[in-house]
Amino acid sequence: MYQHCDNKHTHIKLPVGKVVCVGRNYLDHIQELDNSVPEQALLFIKPATSLCSMEQPLQLPKGQGECHNEIEIAVLIQHELCRVERPQQVKEAIWGVGIGLDLTLREVQTKLKQQGLPWERAKGFDNACPMSGFVPFDQADNLQDLFFSLTIDNTMRQSGHSKLMMRDVVSLVMEISQTFTLLPGDIVMTGTPKGVGPLHSGEVLEICLADHLTITTRVA
Ligand code: ZN
Repeated sequence: MYQHCDNKHTHIKLPVGKVVCVGRNYLDHIQELDNSVPEQALLFIKPATSLCSMEQPLQLPKGQGECHNEIEIAVLIQHELCRVERPQQVKEAIWGVGIGLDLTLREVQTKLKQQGLPWERAKGFDNACPMSGFVPFDQADNLQDLFFSLTIDNTMRQSGHSKLMMRDVVSLVMEISQTFTLLPGDIVMTGTPKGVGPLHSGEVLEICLADHLTITTRVA
């Protein structure tokens, strides 16, 4: 069973809630999938059952086409946020910062998009959200200055920087809270930069968040 942990593998005493995600928050990724720039944040939710530890081998669904990596900065919420008006409220409500994978069944998603259907089958399946431990916010409070990367079998696949987000973390959380109340134990994922692509059995992933976290894992 997934539980939130800190960067020293200590259990964080918060329940495991939903994961609210944003699509199309980096221009380079919008361009690589030939999508349009959204006026409103494009939001979707992964259920609590999609969470798993990133340090366990990644379990991809079988027989459903390509499953793509999307590496994303994640924040863990510790206080309720409902229709927030002040950025400071968001900062006080963040327990810490981590990094997650928004695993996506790309072929399934493309079909759903073409039919105008919701994306849950492509993004909300069990183990669709491998998550790192969280660095306490007081050690990683510069949300605008976080470099992150994913290498696969020693080749750089994705690299990004939080300053390149179209909506920064605090604005994004404020916008989310206008529609979805965030509860203690919920996670917000902040979008992926370019470099999404298919994962294959046996590949070794190295995931870095600034100098805070380096995680090595593999595809089962
Ligand atoms: Zn994503």
